[in-house]
Amino acid sequence: EEKQIVNFGPGPAKLPKSVLLQAQKELLNYSGLGISILEMSHRSSDFNKILNKTESLLRELLNIPGNYKVLFLQGGGSGQFSAVPLNLIGLKGDRCADYLVTGTWSAKAAKEAEKYGKVNVVHPKLHSYTKIPEPSSWTLTPSASYVYYCCNETVHGVEFSFTPEAKGVELVCDMSSNFLSRPVDVSKFGLIFAGAQKNVGCAGVTVVIVREDLLGHALKECPVVLDYKVQAEMSSLYNTPPCFSIYITCLVLEWIKNNGGSAAMEMLNKQKSSRIYDIIDSSNGFYVCPVDVSCRSRMNVPFRVGRKDGDEALEKKFLDGAHERGMISLKGHRSVGGIRASLYNAVTLEDAEALADYMTHFLREHH
Ligand code: PMP
Repeated sequence: EEKQIVNFGPGPAKLPKSVLLQAQKELLNYSGLGISILEMSHRSSDFNKILNKTESLLRELLNIPGNYKVLFLQGGGSGQFSAVPLNLIGLKGDRCADYLVTGTWSAKAAKEAEKYGKVNVVHPKLHSYTKIPEPSSWTLTPSASYVYYCCNETVHGVEFSFTPEAKGVELVCDMSSNFLSRPVDVSKFGLIFAGAQKNVGCAGVTVVIVREDLLGHALKECPVVLDYKVQAEMSSLYNTPPCFSIYITCLVLEWIKNNGGSAAMEMLNKQKSSRIYDIIDSSNGFYVCPVDVSCRSRMNVPFRVGRKDGDEALEKKFLDGAHERGMISLKGHRSVGGIRASLYNAVTLEDAEALADYMTHFLREHH
């Protein structure tokens, strides 16, 4: 009997068991073709079926309007930190863009964009990434080509519960760590991107959803593989796409569909994260989540143990005890320390409850 492992990793993250089993079953002989998907031409009609199915599942699950293109690209979320300005900062003559900087990932995106144009951070600089500045304190630039934000900061556990009002400027969103964890009105966005390795698959593919009229404005130095117009015209087949990763995303999207779609995912994600936040909030300061209640993430729950700034010896003990129970990858990001429980779609309510039980037990032993 294998030891049961519960993976709370921030990404690459847990995948549904049924997806892994199907991938295993099909690995040597895909659909009776006698070869593996790993060996199949990306120009074959069989791979094309996978690509088309992945796109149509995504369109269905997110209700993507017909005037948006869906691209499957390489380079990760970080590749999009460059691709977004390379393709969009030239939309307007001023070559400037507005950024909301609410954590590590939007900070990196803003820094990358500075290579290609002027970046305005629209709110007073945050001293710690524990809240989203009040929209009334933002100064948006009317001549900006786009307004950029990250709607779930994976390291800090800060998540937008609302869609920012961009006042007529194109809205661009990094949804890498909460993609398909809740319904989203795609029509409010000029562009959405998400690396697959948290909620919708494994590393290697990044989904880009972009409105058609935003294509064709890339700077001349934009690398061709990052040029949305080229990739859109070639149906993401300008060069060899990450075939296997796209296939895994296809299986995960089917799993999401069979489990009730984005609305069902949202309900489950609320339940799972509430279990953990409830323990934190009723622990009398033994567990401390630094994030403002209004923007606590349902995907990544960061917390300290023992005291506000974390008792490191106790935190180590907490992680060791979790590990003994098969609960892994709970260590907070090296830049912030502490604990982080990532609760993406494939993490079950039972998984979250197992963690909640352990937290209760640990508190009784040490408080
Ligand atoms: N954006 C967010 C919100 C992320 O969490 C990450 C990775 N954890 C990235 C971007 C970067 O993704 P990648 O490692 O695929 O470049």
